[in-house]
Amino acid sequence: MSTNGAASRRASTLAALAEEPFDLLVVGGGINGAGIARDAAMRGLRTAMVERGDFACGTSSRSSKLIHGGLRYLEQGHLRLVLEAVRERERLRTLAPHLVRPQEFVVPIYRGGPVGFLKLAAGLMLYDVLAGFWSVKRHSMLGRRRMIAAEPAIKRDGLVGGGRYWDYRTDDARLVLETALAAAREGAVVLSYAEVASFLDDGGRIGGARVVDRVGGGEVEVHARVVVNAAGPWVDEVAALDDPTVKPRLRLTKGVHVMVPRNRVGNRAAIVLRAVRDGRVMFVIPWGEHSLVGTTDTDHHGGPEQDPVVEADDVAYLLETVNHYFPDARLGASDVVSAFAGLRPLIAPPDGSDAGPSDVSREEEIFESPRGLVTIAGGKLTAFRLIAETVVDRVITALRRSGDTRRFARSKTAVVPLPGGGSAPELLAAAAISHDGHGLAPSVISHLADRYGTRLDEVMGFVVADRMLARPIVDGLPDPRAEVAQAVEHEWGLTLEDVLRRRTQVALLDDTSGGDVAADVAGIMASRLGWTREAAEEAVRRYLAATSGARSRWR
Ligand SMILES: Cc1cc2nc3c(=O)[nH]c(=O)nc-3n(C[C@H](O)[C@H](O)[C@H](O)COP(=O)(O)OP(=O)(O)OC[C@H]3O[C@@H](n4cnc5c(N)ncnc54)[C@H](O)[C@@H]3O)c2cc1C
Repeated sequence: MSTNGAASRRASTLAALAEEPFDLLVVGGGINGAGIARDAAMRGLRTAMVERGDFACGTSSRSSKLIHGGLRYLEQGHLRLVLEAVRERERLRTLAPHLVRPQEFVVPIYRGGPVGFLKLAAGLMLYDVLAGFWSVKRHSMLGRRRMIAAEPAIKRDGLVGGGRYWDYRTDDARLVLETALAAAREGAVVLSYAEVASFLDDGGRIGGARVVDRVGGGEVEVHARVVVNAAGPWVDEVAALDDPTVKPRLRLTKGVHVMVPRNRVGNRAAIVLRAVRDGRVMFVIPWGEHSLVGTTDTDHHGGPEQDPVVEADDVAYLLETVNHYFPDARLGASDVVSAFAGLRPLIAPPDGSDAGPSDVSREEEIFESPRGLVTIAGGKLTAFRLIAETVVDRVITALRRSGDTRRFARSKTAVVPLPGGGSAPELLAAAAISHDGHGLAPSVISHLADRYGTRLDEVMGFVVADRMLARPIVDGLPDPRAEVAQAVEHEWGLTLEDVLRRRTQVALLDDTSGGDVAADVAGIMASRLGWTREAAEEAVRRYLAATSGARSRWR
């Protein structure tokens, strides 16, 4: 890297990590790590968070992207989980209205199906009751005629009717990113591509960690009085750095999603279906011009180092259900625009339990090792704010035990908006369009307001400075090239994958995963990151090899 903004910002972050003694070091920059760092920094703890890849590169960018109460958990009797989730759902909407968007769901009912009209009506009623005034909108039941009017493309044979209810959808990767940005604004020192390789010892307790800089090489010692392990699927590996004899806690299951053209499926709302092969619940969620279909749930062998891959059979499993319930869809693997796989970091059931992957509890657990490593495992994206609050309470208790008498503020994360929150994106877009759209089409401005909320002006600033950045990254998608600059300058974007998969969704929505524009995008990144021509070419080669390699397994 040459001396440019991004490189010098990184160098000073590394220096700050090495210099300051911290109250808390968080290992892992997924939703849990970012949430904990934000909460802790807001309460006045000197906080650091390190992520060995890009923020959200683990499970937190590979979810079903729903902020939901979990209707399915009602069937399993997990009332507390649902109650907690419906409240969090509403809180997150007020903190980040641009990222947490209301979504209508429809559950079709078929003759002979596992859930009849009355059972569904009772379930949806209970869901609304638990939500109380946190309800998005009240549910309604649909007779066959209304069901067909609502979803004309759905299979009619055996259709009895359906139920309609509301939850939220989100952009999971950006929810993590904004939470990490919020942590940094509150004074936390956060760094991506920085891996905890081992722990420091402080008189028999953990006193911090050795952190490897995965961009520039080298290592820094980060001193901290408490370390939290929020490494998602890797929590067992990180716990083993503390105690190699400790028993693994996790059972990893793989979940695959595919993105398909919505005009082929014809769904209007998000549809809740039972998989043809095994009756599991799955979703077909409208995603602009596309539909997001998922998920599978199968045991993952080989540990988290074995990156979960999408296999042809995963795609077949999802498509056979879509094709069954939407008979005109006739989707094949070649129609799939993109696919991704994630690992659920679930708490393993007790020894001897033969629970199937979908029956394993989604609840989180927090435990502390004899040397003081606090580990958070399991949980859901939806519950991250509450989980973070609970973990930080534990951290403060640990600080107190070690003689710390400072007073820390109570958690404020339930009331302080995320950086782009605080205003409805519709209002922001309307204001920008009526003021001066700087030549951007109203649909592009709306897209930017949905993605950046009140930070819309930052992105518009790049367009004002360079008109070329108003052009789309990919023709036919709304994302202007200014988003590439935004990702590098304001959002820690360091690789093509960071920009195309997690800052924007080009990799999910473009038929070539952005491969056709990778060189253009690398060109915009290069000057800002100080890449040489060779470095830019190498970045493109690596991106193309990764995307085409993954695709060749299922297409
Ligand atoms: C298929 C699927 C669908 C899902 N759908 C939903 C949904 O719709 N709604 C919902 O609420 N929840 C959903 N979930 C659950 C949710 O996504 C997870 O609970 C959540 O993302 C876990 O976040 P995390 O921060 O614990 O883990 P991660 O996001 O995996 O973060 C852990 C991070 O730790 C980093 N790390 C590991 N080792 C180190 C180290 N040594 N040093 C530094 N960093 C390290 C990793 O790189 C990783 O980024 C879904 C999960 C899956 C798999």
